Amino acid sequence: MESILLFIYLIASITFILGLKMLSNPKSARKGNTVAALGMGLAIIGTIVLYTNDSGEHLGNHIWILCGLMIGGVIGTMSAKKVQMTAMPQMVSLFNGMGGACAALISIIEFKHLVHDFKPELYAGGGYTYFSTLDGASLLVIMAGLIIGTVSFTGSMIAWAKLDGRLNDYAFNGQHIVNMLMLGITVALTGMILFLRPEETITFFYAVLALAFVYGILFVLPIGGADMPVVISLLNSFTGIAAACGGFLYDNSAMLTGGILVGAAGTLLTVLMCNAMNRSLLNVLIGSFGASAQGGQNTGMQGTYKEMSISDASVLMSYSSKVVIVPGYGLAVAQAQHACHELEKLLTEKGVEVTYAIHPVAGRMPGHMNVLLAEADVPYEKLKEMEEINDEFPSVDAVLILGANDVVNPAAKTDPSSPIYGMPILDVELAKHVIVNKRSMKPGYAGIENELFFRPKTSMLFGDSKKVLQDLIAEIKNL
Ligand code: NDP
Repeated sequence: MESILLFIYLIASITFILGLKMLSNPKSARKGNTVAALGMGLAIIGTIVLYTNDSGEHLGNHIWILCGLMIGGVIGTMSAKKVQMTAMPQMVSLFNGMGGACAALISIIEFKHLVHDFKPELYAGGGYTYFSTLDGASLLVIMAGLIIGTVSFTGSMIAWAKLDGRLNDYAFNGQHIVNMLMLGITVALTGMILFLRPEETITFFYAVLALAFVYGILFVLPIGGADMPVVISLLNSFTGIAAACGGFLYDNSAMLTGGILVGAAGTLLTVLMCNAMNRSLLNVLIGSFGASAQGGQNTGMQGTYKEMSISDASVLMSYSSKVVIVPGYGLAVAQAQHACHELEKLLTEKGVEVTYAIHPVAGRMPGHMNVLLAEADVPYEKLKEMEEINDEFPSVDAVLILGANDVVNPAAKTDPSSPIYGMPILDVELAKHVIVNKRSMKPGYAGIENELFFRPKTSMLFGDSKKVLQDLIAEIKNL
């Protein structure tokens, strides 16, 4: 039995690795997701049916387990089917928080077992502490799972509430010092627990739980909306590490591998995103970029801008040889991806070379634009990453910006006082003409003015992206 279960865990671990590999390419991403989910399903069923403890007993509580699986499965499936693409980051945050909570619950249960099953008679003289017993290592893993899982849970809940517009950024003077102190006390208490008798540890254990709970809230509360992708990715890696602690405790290789993969992937994504914004992780976590970003100061109009008509935009694009479309959050809001693809096909039929410029944080989650355009069957070869397309802009005749703002804001390069200074942007201003489609002159997510809109090469094409695209398509067909 045990060797069959081990074999199942091995297969599950392999599917996680293969799934992750397939997720790195949009063409195989869906399949990768399915492969990893099948592996996870296999590991769950294998555990329920084949697992036996040291005394050879099978898992009990089958009804409870099945009820939990069904309730979780139904809620997960329904919310994944119903969620709007624009609300995907909130959902990722929520699900990630649930993972953290599970890891913390495992630690709470296993701590109770550890204290309950402790055998003082093995330690003559009564001078035992966890440090002097074999349970010390288990206790450390339990504490790590508790702290990391709880921080991930409360942090993710705050991230969800902020992304969902239910909570504003909040910071008070000296918050970072308070945060550091809380973290220091949490680590110190954890160290102390090791040197206590098991029966004396219970109060300290729950004190650590409470501190980690509050720390997760205070840690995420001041971080601004524009930095949220980095924070979510970091919390994601926390959940992975906390789950790996569970895998270690249960000697469960599938859980361990899954946790390590999530932890490593989340950490790598965090580092890559920080690099993409040209900032250090410390700067993201304690810097002021985010805090002043969402809802930040709007500096007012910087001059005059010019408007363009649908017919002028249609003529300009139809007679261009190279057009680049820059999708942004507004395209997702308007659900205009299908109309966008139609325009691209129409222009291509007319002999125009059309590509898409994808900024790594365009939209509201990593890969948001890739997923949105894939939904409309835009060929993946047409999507160009920022580094690649930036070199091409000088040879582009017209850039069509659809509901993007911060990711094309030149202040990131020119204005050291700007909250987005240092973040790499799409160099659209190097193209011959820039058409900006949005509904008004309102700022984007970072809450700051965009000087691109006032530059001589730029023309504003106001309106909802879907309506504007439909009008452009109709106009170009008549040309
Ligand atoms: P922005 O949020 O900067 O701008 C979007 C623009 O779209 C707005 O200025 C808005 O202007 C316009 N818009 C909204 N609805 C419509 C519509 N129906 N039709 C036409 N236009 C519309 O988007 P970007 O994609 O440029 O930048 C993303 C921002 O989000 C960055 O600051 C990034 O850091 C942040 N972020 C990114 C995440 C990620 O992982 N990708 C996660 C969280 C935040 P108007 O109201 O005038 O129409």
